[in-house]
Amino acid sequence: MELSKRQEAILEIVKKEGPITGEQIAERLSLTRATLRPDMAILTMAGLLEARPRVGYYYSGKTPNKVIAEKLHRIKVGEVKSIPVVVSEHCSVYDAVVTMFIEDVGTLIVVREGGILEGVISRKDLLKITLGGQDIHKLPVGVVMTRMPNVITVGPDDSVWLAAKKLITHEVDALPVVRPVEGGDKNKDLEVIGRLSKTNITRLFVELGEGN
Ligand code: ADP
Repeated sequence: MELSKRQEAILEIVKKEGPITGEQIAERLSLTRATLRPDMAILTMAGLLEARPRVGYYYSGKTPNKVIAEKLHRIKVGEVKSIPVVVSEHCSVYDAVVTMFIEDVGTLIVVREGGILEGVISRKDLLKITLGGQDIHKLPVGVVMTRMPNVITVGPDDSVWLAAKKLITHEVDALPVVRPVEGGDKNKDLEVIGRLSKTNITRLFVELGEGN
């Protein structure tokens, strides 16, 4: 985040003299309170300054980068996830390709009864199997998918930062969003409740860039 000269000056004054009222800051800069109002709002919204009624402004001690990092750790996967596009492992490779086109996704999530995670299929998994020359109308996706327990997942309460880190570390395009099934094995019985892809992260990035 780039600050204007005036915002830098305000920050310096508050760092040295805070807590300090808006009136006093305006006096130091020989400006009116009204002129300063937008700057005070920006600095407060960005988390650099904090305001307490009847006390005044004080410096939060956070750098702009730290404020961004905190925000990314605060936003939860559950807030940005998409609806999962799921198929059964008996679905044919042909039908999986058609589903990808119709649903406009690059990753299909394979579930068994009750929406329990079994695996994932990517575009390249499907391309690879079509090179084998087998009958893709008969071949089930179960033979090409990446199967549990090798599927990388996230929970709805995990941060989007953690999700993005997993996407990059494991070099995959999407993660099933899951929650443990009550009374089930918490490593094996995971109910699929969403999908988090690189697109969700990119969309969030754009929204944050727009100041939303
Ligand atoms: P693409 O194959 O279209 O480039 P990915 O990079 O997501 O898409 O997939 C690469 C490989 O990783 C594929 O074999 C796929 O089955 C597997 N894969 C995709 N998503 C996951 C995931 N969340 N956990 C584990 N493996 C995955």
